[in-house]
Amino acid sequence: MRLLGHVELNCTLTCETGLHIGDEGALEIGGVDGPVVKEPTEGYPYVPGSSLKGKMRSLLEWHEGKVDSEGDTHECGDADAVSCPICRVFGTPADIDANTGPTRLSVRDAFPTEETKIRWEEEFDTVLPYTEIKTENSINRITAAANVRSNERVPKDSEFDCEFVYGVYDLDDGGQPDLDNLALIEQGLSLLEDSWLGGSGSRGYGSVTFDDLRYTARTADDYRSRGTASDETRDRDEMTLDEIRELFEDV
Ligand SMILES: [Zn+2]
Repeated sequence: MRLLGHVELNCTLTCETGLHIGDEGALEIGGVDGPVVKEPTEGYPYVPGSSLKGKMRSLLEWHEGKVDSEGDTHECGDADAVSCPICRVFGTPADIDANTGPTRLSVRDAFPTEETKIRWEEEFDTVLPYTEIKTENSINRITAAANVRSNERVPKDSEFDCEFVYGVYDLDDGGQPDLDNLALIEQGLSLLEDSWLGGSGSRGYGSVTFDDLRYTARTADDYRSRGTASDETRDRDEMTLDEIRELFEDV
C-alpha cells in the first residue's frame, strides 16, 4: 500500500447566524454561562477541526442510512469497514481491526480571517472581546419556572479559513477508491449548510455557509522534489476535481 499524494480543499466558512461552539471546561470572566471555545495564545474564537469533522460525519451517516434504530453513532464492524466510505474517509475506532488503511481526511482548526479579527476588535470591544452575549430564556414546562442562561456567540457574518487535507492511497482492497470518496467532503459541507454547527441549532444558532472552494493537490513525486525544486514550482495552482483525477491517474 502506497501513498499517492494529498488533495487539499480550502474554503471560507461564514456564520449566517451567531455560532456557539461551547468550551464547558473554560474559566470565563464576564459571568457568561456558556463560553465559546477560543485559541489560547490570542484569545480569538475558532472552529475546532474536530467539531467540523464530527458534524460532517454525523450528517453523512444519517444521509447514507448508517444510523441504527437506536440512533447510535455509526461504527462498522471489522469486516464491513473496508466497503464503508464513511469509515474509510473519517476513520474507525482504534480497537477495530478493519484494514481500511489510515484515516483519509484531516480537518484543520479554522481560524478567523484577518478582516473578521479587525471587525471583532472594532465592534465587540466589551467585557468579552470578539463575541456577543445572547440571553436565552427557557421555561420549565412543568413548574413554569423561568431559567435564564447567557450564551457567548461568535457574531453573525464572522468568517473563518477552513482547510481539509485528504490522503490518496493505492489500496486495492475491494473498497471504493479514494478519489471517488473525495466527493464526501463537499457532500458533508452541503449537508452542514442545511443543518447547523455547534450548540442551540434548533434555536437558530450555527447556520453556516462554505464559499470560495479551492482544490490543490500534491503527488508523492512533488514531495520527493522538495528541497531541490525552486520556490515557484512549490506553489500549487488551483485545480478542478477532473484535473485532480487526471493527475492521480498518471501517478
Ligand atoms: Zn462504516
